[in-house]
Amino acid sequence: MTTNPKYIFIVGGVMSGIGKGIATSSIGRILKSKGFKVTAIKIDPYINVDAGTMNPTEHGEVFVLDDGYETDQDMGNYERFLDESLPSINYMTTGRVYQEVIRRERNLEYGGRNVEVVPDVPLEVLRRISEAQKAANADITLVEVGGTIGEYQNVIFLEAARMLKQKYPRDVAVVMLSYVPIPGNIGEMKTKPTQYAARSLNSVGLQADIILARATVPLDAKRKEKIAVFCNILPEHVISAPDVDSIYDVPLNYEKDGMGDILCDVLGLDRRPTDLSQWAAFVAKSKNGGKKLEVAVVGKYFMSGEYVLSDVYISVIEALKHAAYAVDCKVHLSYLDSEVYEKDPAKLEELRQYDGIVVPGGFGSRGVEGIVSAIQFAREQKIPYLGLCYGMQWLTIEYARHVAGLEGANTAEVNKDAPHPVIDVMPDQIEKLTKADYGGTMRLGTYPCTLTEGTVAHEAYELAGALAKEGGAAEVSERHRHRYEVNPEYIERLQKAGLVFSGKSPSGKLMEIAELPRGVHPFFVGSQFHPELTSRPLKPHPLFIAFIQAASAQKK
Ligand code: GLN
Repeated sequence: MTTNPKYIFIVGGVMSGIGKGIATSSIGRILKSKGFKVTAIKIDPYINVDAGTMNPTEHGEVFVLDDGYETDQDMGNYERFLDESLPSINYMTTGRVYQEVIRRERNLEYGGRNVEVVPDVPLEVLRRISEAQKAANADITLVEVGGTIGEYQNVIFLEAARMLKQKYPRDVAVVMLSYVPIPGNIGEMKTKPTQYAARSLNSVGLQADIILARATVPLDAKRKEKIAVFCNILPEHVISAPDVDSIYDVPLNYEKDGMGDILCDVLGLDRRPTDLSQWAAFVAKSKNGGKKLEVAVVGKYFMSGEYVLSDVYISVIEALKHAAYAVDCKVHLSYLDSEVYEKDPAKLEELRQYDGIVVPGGFGSRGVEGIVSAIQFAREQKIPYLGLCYGMQWLTIEYARHVAGLEGANTAEVNKDAPHPVIDVMPDQIEKLTKADYGGTMRLGTYPCTLTEGTVAHEAYELAGALAKEGGAAEVSERHRHRYEVNPEYIERLQKAGLVFSGKSPSGKLMEIAELPRGVHPFFVGSQFHPELTSRPLKPHPLFIAFIQAASAQKK
């Protein structure tokens, strides 16, 4: 392409939580389907330097990138919709930006002049945006600004957008995602909040080029016209974004209103055909009947006041869906709070009705005894079980306690003085913990894992065509986020008792996958890594496929 790189800022009006991440991801998918090279950046207006130190019940899932950066769950949406892995430069927070400005100031890189919030902070934002654009060699760079217009917190990022637009007026577009409520007692769609949001955006020197109007239903012509007139845009640039069954419908829906071509017009790019055929086929498949599987996700981060949060496990949920569609099944998920089993062990019986049980990642002691009981139930009742990170560590502890005869086995994370610390802190982590050096210091990002032939895990990767093993050992790469691991002193005892470590670090020192052989259990597998992070709609993860297949085979 000979034109300048193009930028699209996606901002939120009226309120948060209406799907800016999915909107950004969907725009990315559409533009990629037009043959453009696209990359996507997420800005979070927090002081936290990354998402690693944020409590999941407050912030949702922490999504880990290949290079180990701990980011917001929207990065996961981008990766899934774009079908690309993104680098750490594509994620920034206020804290990260200031940290860099202050580092440079300390190093005299500003040559002794005053360093100012404006323009030096937005300039650092723009430097990062440009670096991400260059790294991807992107024709179009999407920048999602977290939070809502009018908040004090994201002003500095909107100022960066304004500066870029002022410098390259033809190369920057602004998309505002707004919410158009239909108050129950009025029964009419109200556009006023959107009008106010558009004005607030004007007050920071930006004008929306496109307004995405989220609502429970599609907009009628009258509301489109009203938004157009009062927000100063063309009526055809008001795009309906009604509630949909599945997030994967969103790109197809936007295209009904011609989103891709409108963006090309705004950015001065030639219109090109959009080829969403593969995506549409995947969406169609996801809607076909197929066998319905009941899967329980047993975790501890679900309850927030009176509300059940599933955001914390978003990648797990999506990975289960991807795998189910791929084998012509549908999953219905139930979110079960493990603490319930501690208070009332009789409740464990409810697990019998499920075709599969998943224990996702987690930290700390709350609810873990309930988790271990659920895993024991899955093992003894031969219900397919998939453990992810903490779910693998607790699989190991369960086996140690109830099969290997290691009474009181535990993880050092929960009980430092356990008689059998079968899960222990990694040696290089001890110093970090003593110094309370928590931020970004776990074992993070992608590491290779060698698979043992003849195991359930090996077969899963092989059947999915995900094993590159010309000559050498069967090796895969997976993303990690943990401080603890299987204690080498117990490996032999656990193996003697029948537990198989089917995946190991190439050195053979770290146990990456634990499982029971097929003859013993239909599917009992745990991975120290997080396979859910790399599952993609059109490329489900092998371990999830194998788990769903086992659940489907078991279905009564
Ligand atoms: N708490 C465990 C550890 O730090 C597991 C982490 C996780 O599940 N991501 O090792």
